[in-house]
Amino acid sequence: MGEFDLIKRFFERERSTQVGVALGIGDDCAVLQPAAGQQWLVSTDMLVEGRHFLSTVAPELLGHKALAVNLSDLAACGATPRAFTLALALPRADEAFLAGFARGLFALADAHGIALVGGDTTAGPLNICVTVMGECPQGQALLRSGARPGDDIYISGCLGDARLALEQFRGTLSLPGEDFAQVRLAMERPEPRVALGQALRGIASSAIDVSDGLAGDLGHVLVRSGVGAELDFERLPRSRWLAAQPAAVQQLCLLSGGDDYELVFTAPAAQREAVLAAAQASGTAVSRVGHISAEAGLRVLDGSGEKMALQLQSFDHFKA
Ligand code: ADP
Ligand code: MG
Repeated sequence: MGEFDLIKRFFERERSTQVGVALGIGDDCAVLQPAAGQQWLVSTDMLVEGRHFLSTVAPELLGHKALAVNLSDLAACGATPRAFTLALALPRADEAFLAGFARGLFALADAHGIALVGGDTTAGPLNICVTVMGECPQGQALLRSGARPGDDIYISGCLGDARLALEQFRGTLSLPGEDFAQVRLAMERPEPRVALGQALRGIASSAIDVSDGLAGDLGHVLVRSGVGAELDFERLPRSRWLAAQPAAVQQLCLLSGGDDYELVFTAPAAQREAVLAAAQASGTAVSRVGHISAEAGLRVLDGSGEKMALQLQSFDHFKA
């Protein structure tokens, strides 16, 4: 199977009408058509074997995750997904791998109405790079820079399960089989919070998705917004299996976990009802976990309101 057969067979699909796409795969460029009054938002995330995923992961899950982590960035900005490109380096043209990968990729793409409009395919060490494009009404994108003192801080879903799964793979802990199946799903099959992000337009003052750990990612919001924050540790949303872990494991997974793909966002206290309505409308659980303050830095408070002594670390590819 040659390069062009491969593209045709696994990635080129018939699609008559797709909002925003005038021309998809097959020419030197895709042609995109923004609607009047909309802005296009663009984001890229790369997955490298051994870095972002284990070689043993099922191809279908890999296809899902490659797009999911990108959709999560659109979600964080409140954008509506429209189009994506896929740059693939493959060690070989393995049909079973490609079929599974494409199945996982397109199942998620179809669930979000986003079209694959182009890409690049080359031989090389397995590497998957997706670029997503989405739309948002002019000036309404949710940014990291909008948090203000007094705003509430919210988190969608649960944090820390993906890290729990990673620790099990590393052999530092041992979960019962049922629980491991659940946390493994969190790691290998994250659900991007796209509907929640869109529902929060005009309500949230800032947002980010948690990919490198809550402390680090919320930290980006604080720096961009020129503010600080207090988090109530007890309020951080966690699964029953994480809640059953020792305190140190919970702290690690909740604050420095990574790979969560939940949204952390802020909103003025006057928007509490609107936030709950957005959560309900999008079918996503959200928890209020703290507030923004004028004093720079992140403080995590224990159940009695005392500041916890923590070594907060965020994932960084170029540090240990
Ligand atoms: P060029 O040589 O002009 O860069 P290519 O031969 O790389 O074009 O690709 C041919 C067409 O197939 C282009 O429209 C390109 O966007 C698309 N394409 C290539 N690889 C992929 C892929 N992995 N997924 C989707 N489309 C792809
Ligand atoms: Mg090319």
